[in-house]
Amino acid sequence: MFDLIIQGGQVVTPQAVGIMDVGVQGEKIVAVGQTGTLSAQAGRTIDARGKIVIPGGIEPHAHIGIPVPEFWSGQADVMTQPPEAASRAAAFGGVTTIIDFAGDLSFAESSGQAPRSIMEVIAERREVFRTHSYTDFAFHYILAGEVAPVTIGEIKEAIQEGVGSFKIFTTFHPIRVPYGHLWPIFEEVAKHGGIMAVHAEEDEIVRYMTEKLKREGRAQGYNLHLVHNNISEDLAFRHIIRLAKHTGVGIYFVHVTAKEGVAAIEEARSNGMPVYGEALHNYLQFTCEDYKKPGGTAIHTYPAIKFADDREALTAGLADGRLATTATDEYTTYKGPKLWGDMIETVCGGHNGIETRMPVAYAKFVAERGVSLQRFVDITSANAARILGLYPQKGAIQPGSDADIVLLDPNEKKVIALSDLHADSDYSIWEGFQCHAYPVMTILRGKVIVENGKLLGSSTDGRWVKRHVANEVVAKPAV
Ligand SMILES: [Zn+2]
Repeated sequence: MFDLIIQGGQVVTPQAVGIMDVGVQGEKIVAVGQTGTLSAQAGRTIDARGKIVIPGGIEPHAHIGIPVPEFWSGQADVMTQPPEAASRAAAFGGVTTIIDFAGDLSFAESSGQAPRSIMEVIAERREVFRTHSYTDFAFHYILAGEVAPVTIGEIKEAIQEGVGSFKIFTTFHPIRVPYGHLWPIFEEVAKHGGIMAVHAEEDEIVRYMTEKLKREGRAQGYNLHLVHNNISEDLAFRHIIRLAKHTGVGIYFVHVTAKEGVAAIEEARSNGMPVYGEALHNYLQFTCEDYKKPGGTAIHTYPAIKFADDREALTAGLADGRLATTATDEYTTYKGPKLWGDMIETVCGGHNGIETRMPVAYAKFVAERGVSLQRFVDITSANAARILGLYPQKGAIQPGSDADIVLLDPNEKKVIALSDLHADSDYSIWEGFQCHAYPVMTILRGKVIVENGKLLGSSTDGRWVKRHVANEVVAKPAV
């Protein structure tokens, strides 16, 4: 007797793809078997014939309910959409776990105050989501600026408490962490088995190009790719990889944007280093030429969207295993603030994206490139779970895993319209995108939260999840 049986779908498990039944008891998957072999007795039986049954999507990169800088939006007090809206959109888009960020960006110690403790900041951030999230959630911890030794001393406890990853930026003042400070951070994270999430750009190149383009009257937003450019990515990725080599830390490069970044990751991995790359779904669709269209910077997320050969390198890297995950850099505002800034220093980052990643990835990889369904699951769910410490609780359809399950309908070949989406926003760069499959049911820990366009979940359903990165993930390229 099961609480729920999902019957007759094309189920994607870590071992196989086939017509199977999935049995759920409470919040867990308890059985997966050839269709017809599970006891037919269940509280509810879902007919999944003709559907693809996959683990719930994991969004590894989102910025929800945070202040948007006034120099991007032109107004005070603009926030990215709150957890209710972002997790609602995520649920409709087949995403069941969101990894957002927490961090103390007050730089209190520069004014003589002690920095706040990592776990205190995590606790505060959890409260922002608690009872306000339709999906499960977790946070990368941002270490910013010249990180105080006392904070570095708290990394061990944070990792033990389930904060498996630490985010740093190598550019943007004042959050940029200087290389000197990165060294002990990498050592400490390596020592306790966490992983670094790195936004890698070469700060001196970014600053030099910003000044150069301003001087030459070329500082329009459509030139962002000349500031946050290919050479910057090449240099920064290689600096980070060298420091990782010296300290033994695992690296998760957020938003790889250039063929040079893909090549640096490939080289490190071929030397046995635990280095992983993420690509954002807008980088798989657009190029810097699109910036020049009216309202074209709506597609922009930092660093910057580059050229057609970079787009091809990212897509090929995700298809063949050199890159590991797709993400969105979710940062949803309304169109007004998003398009207010039109110069290289004022274009708003991020986009309204959390709902569209799964269908876009299906179209790009399964439909257009013939990528296997297992690889599709890897780059939308399983790899993020493995690298960031959620596996096998999340990211797998197998007994013992959370019953986070999505049904995709391959006959739902919709063209995305703004009216299909559920964000608190009035634009989408994905309007007009041709899908080849679409999520029609989302199940979070055994509870159906979205079914045929209806929201059935509650914003009290989502829980904070602890993340512990497996030893093998930070010892060698494990995915
Ligand atoms: Zn981001």
